[in-house]
Amino acid sequence: SIFCGLFNTPFSSGIHVGKKIDKLGMRSSDTHQITFEDVRVPSKNLIGEEGKGFTYQMLQFQEERLWAVATVLTPLETLIRETIDYTRERKVFGQPVLHNQTVHFRLAELATEVELLRSLLRRAVALYVEGNDVTKFASMAKLKAGRLAREVTDTCLQFWGGMGFTSEVLVSRLYRDFRLLSIGGGTDETMLYIICKHMEILPSK
Ligand SMILES: Cc1cc2nc3c(=O)[nH]c(=O)nc-3n(C[C@H](O)[C@H](O)[C@H](O)COP(=O)(O)OP(=O)(O)OC[C@H]3O[C@@H](n4cnc5c(N)ncnc54)[C@H](O)[C@@H]3O)c2cc1C
Repeated sequence: SIFCGLFNTPFSSGIHVGKKIDKLGMRSSDTHQITFEDVRVPSKNLIGEEGKGFTYQMLQFQEERLWAVATVLTPLETLIRETIDYTRERKVFGQPVLHNQTVHFRLAELATEVELLRSLLRRAVALYVEGNDVTKFASMAKLKAGRLAREVTDTCLQFWGGMGFTSEVLVSRLYRDFRLLSIGGGTDETMLYIICKHMEILPSK
């Protein structure tokens, strides 16, 4: 996305955009393979200091990961609420699906987890605003958000039954779209590596 402003400019020669790649989710955002061949960028277009790109990227990851966590909280809450409404309405063998303890207990548990994630996010953001390095907390929150999003969407989809498998409802879209959260912006494994590093439990080389 950082390169989008370069297209159709005098210095866009050498940038080749390959065919659009179909994806499991996030379909409203196009993905293409892009190759760069002897691309020249005028010095006036340089952002920051030359050779510092990787450092800038690592620093901005704190914000990107906190943002990623913030973006899933409301959709997850909405999904839990929609699932409550649907399962209250949907009757199987004469009683609402929601009346099964395995269903309402599970929804309560997921709502609790979402609240815990919100608390961790707030703590990390408060520390960040005070000027602290929150790499560890941002990584923990991102790891938890990816895993929780998968748990909530998968569980809710199950409670929606066959309807949940259709493209007519929110749950199937979030099930597909939120799968990216454990991959994009650094994978779950990368988050675990960073957390281990901060805990000083990585084996020495
Ligand atoms: C839809 C989409 C949008 C994206 N948007 C952007 C974007 O805007 N900007 C951007 O910079 N990137 C973007 N990405 C890229 C994304 O950040 C990477 O896909 C992600 O960081 C994983 O890198 P990779 O795909 O190269 O996986 P790989 O490096 O090939 O890793 C494959 C798997 O192996 C695991 N793995 C690797 N090493 C180890 C290890 N030592 N121990 C245990 N497990 C390991 C990884 O965690 C991963 O699960 C996007 C990706 C997608 C799918």
